[in-house]
Amino acid sequence: MQQTENQSSLPWQERSWNIGTATNVRSGKRAVGLIEHGTYADGTPLQSPVHVLVGAQEGPVLYVQAAVHGNEVNGVEVLRRVASSLDPELMRGVLIVVPVANGPALLMRQRHNPFDKEDMNRVWPGKLGGMASQQMAYSLYQQAIHQAQYVVDLHTANSNTLLHVVYGRGDEASRKLAEVFGLEVLLEENVDDDLKQSRFLGKLRNTLTAQGVPAITPELGGSDHFEEDHIVLGVRGVLNVMKHLGMLQGAIEPPDRPQITLYGSHLDRVRASLGGIWVAQVKGGDQVKQGQLLGHVYAIRTFETVEQIFAPYDGYILGTSDLPIVNTGDNLVNLCRLDDN
Ligand SMILES: [Zn+2]
Repeated sequence: MQQTENQSSLPWQERSWNIGTATNVRSGKRAVGLIEHGTYADGTPLQSPVHVLVGAQEGPVLYVQAAVHGNEVNGVEVLRRVASSLDPELMRGVLIVVPVANGPALLMRQRHNPFDKEDMNRVWPGKLGGMASQQMAYSLYQQAIHQAQYVVDLHTANSNTLLHVVYGRGDEASRKLAEVFGLEVLLEENVDDDLKQSRFLGKLRNTLTAQGVPAITPELGGSDHFEEDHIVLGVRGVLNVMKHLGMLQGAIEPPDRPQITLYGSHLDRVRASLGGIWVAQVKGGDQVKQGQLLGHVYAIRTFETVEQIFAPYDGYILGTSDLPIVNTGDNLVNLCRLDDN
């Protein structure tokens, strides 16, 4: 049974919430349930856990998920700390938490869904009868996400990339969420033809903002390992968003340094033409001029430099590859622009 449309006329204390198998959750209560996707070959249920916290007072519905890429574990721990720390009696609105959106990828400690080798963050809002990732996205979307008025999709990039929050160009409500999340770098993304070719419209954030639902993508450091400093910033960010939306009382905690806005996307990359071993000479946070040396690639057979990498335009280094072993075409530097031209 879906809700809330048919219940929105009821007083808050008389409404009940149904999200996956978490049913009849009332104001001031919390519940843990499952979003059912299907089964593994051996019959084990394929599910995503969902935590539902219904505030004692009326307020907005916020959906927060992590690990749609299975190896991006900082967000999982962020959501455990957030959900565990909250008392629904002291909240307004509803918080829906899915700590692991992509269970099969988590099991394999990898980004992609092992069933269909798909990037689950390119297939939103999913498809009934589609491939595994599409079906999982569909059930999450239908049973949980579509009930939300605001969405935070927690990700990680790599350990050499500055923490940042991505939002869609021209979407002021999302921009505001990104600001209050409180990281020092904001990345304003414009889904142009290039990004459409890379299926960026199938990202959860872009699917939602196209429907007028404010959504942000915080990128909280590296994958595979817990990074305590970044987890702390992620917890602060989610709680800041809840304070901004009036779901929690208290002052929003600002970033330690003034925020900077970059324009572009994660595909604003400088890539290797020739393979070898990559040595960066810049790092995240550096500002560079067109033509400036960013690093070099050397040959393991001779130790000679096979390629020097220069900045193709003026910009700001969002991050560099943390993988020294590079083949032709591999990403070396994520170089974003500081103005929107
Ligand atoms: Zn990700």
